[in-house]
Amino acid sequence: MEKVDALTVGAGGGAYPGAFRLARAGRRVVMVDPKGVMSGNCLADGCIPSKSVREVADLYRRARRGQKFGLAGATDFNYAAVIAHKDGVQIRRYQQHDRELAEMGDRLRLVKGTARFLEPHVVEVPTDDGTHRYSADSIIIASGAEVAVPPIPGAELCLTSSDIFALRPKFRRLPQRMVIIGAGYIALETACMLSVFGVGVSVLVRSQVLRTMDPDFVSQLMGLFDPGIELVFDAEVGTIDRDEKAARVHYRQHGREQVIEAEQVMMAAGRKPVIPEGCEEVGVNVEHGRILVDATLQTSVPRIYACGDVNARSPLFHSAVRQSLVAAHNILSGNVPSDYMDFESVPTTLFTFPEAAYVGITRDQARRRGLSVVEAPYPFAEDTRAQIYDETAGELRLFFEAGSLRVLGGWVIGIDAGNLIGEIGLAVSSRLTAHDLARYPDQHPMASEGVSKAARSLF
Ligand code: ADP
Repeated sequence: MEKVDALTVGAGGGAYPGAFRLARAGRRVVMVDPKGVMSGNCLADGCIPSKSVREVADLYRRARRGQKFGLAGATDFNYAAVIAHKDGVQIRRYQQHDRELAEMGDRLRLVKGTARFLEPHVVEVPTDDGTHRYSADSIIIASGAEVAVPPIPGAELCLTSSDIFALRPKFRRLPQRMVIIGAGYIALETACMLSVFGVGVSVLVRSQVLRTMDPDFVSQLMGLFDPGIELVFDAEVGTIDRDEKAARVHYRQHGREQVIEAEQVMMAAGRKPVIPEGCEEVGVNVEHGRILVDATLQTSVPRIYACGDVNARSPLFHSAVRQSLVAAHNILSGNVPSDYMDFESVPTTLFTFPEAAYVGITRDQARRRGLSVVEAPYPFAEDTRAQIYDETAGELRLFFEAGSLRVLGGWVIGIDAGNLIGEIGLAVSSRLTAHDLARYPDQHPMASEGVSKAARSLF
């Protein structure tokens, strides 16, 4: 049994930022991950590869629109080259992470294997060179999440996001038609990028799209959605079968049996936390399949923390990174809380076309909490940059607490949403007011002008 100061279960976004912080502060730290590399699912088959493909789709989409502005325009693309670009980004980042890890020397090691708990602070890791046991003063569980495959007969015939975005994927040729089961952000983002690449996409939606998000935000976004994407509502999938040519998805809609056919079917029905073996047995509370944590990220067991997708509080890489640092700070302060996670200031972006993003409390949450808010909209029809790009659909909207005029939240639907939400999120987490935002000279002619312009509209 080897004694270490801290151990992380996983080496993704919820694990390695905290592990590095602890190691830099002189602690002896071990990260355990069956991948044997850092960055978890985000780099393996999640945000980075999917955005690498998505941004090429965006370039292609803009180049085609460029015909309007006198550009010859892109009329074709090579999907194999798109995949090569995506693989290249992944490889480059893995190499970068290898260098970062090497720089840490002995203080921080990455062990390739799957950790299981034997006692609250003892884990066992079977590896290629035998089974290791570690006793760790503090543990960060950051085992992430995995694709949730519902128990539908034939579900194994479907592709998942992992098949499409993993390094050197088998999925290298775009089909003419694709059916996507699910209506979360992964389903909709994939639908948008495939549609730009000319794939005929049908999305089977059981009840509503983006169920957990503000309904007014969602309906505005959906109003601007690519009409070429077929959204099939109230579709309860029954079974899936296939022959060499095509797959068929059988579903029930308004009491009627229907069938839809396509060369490929993608299952994007959500993700579920991965709970390490033995974790519940040693006393870590798990409810509805996720590990319960408090705002210091501690679980029900002292000195065991759980960060990132495994606690399902806000399953996004950047949230996991911040959570990991919060846990590390609390470990460094000897378990006397010195840092707290602010789950409400985590921005979310949907990399659809158009892009859309939100942060904090928006209209629906304000209503539910009985908060009285003042709204400040800024339509992109009036925005210089949006006009330059001729992408004037959508809006930026800020929500202020009535009275104090503190920024509670905001959304952006349309141009540069993913970037703009950063400034709004910082305002939310820094408790800024409409006065603060109105005073700031946001750059011209960038879409961020909309933030201060929206605030100034109140005065
Ligand atoms: P997060 O961003 O929440 O950290 P990721 O999914 O990016 O989530 O990373 C989680 C990592 O945890 C994955 O790389 C996965 O291989 C790893 N993992 C899952 N279960 C275990 C386990 N029992 N022991 C060690 N690593 C694990």
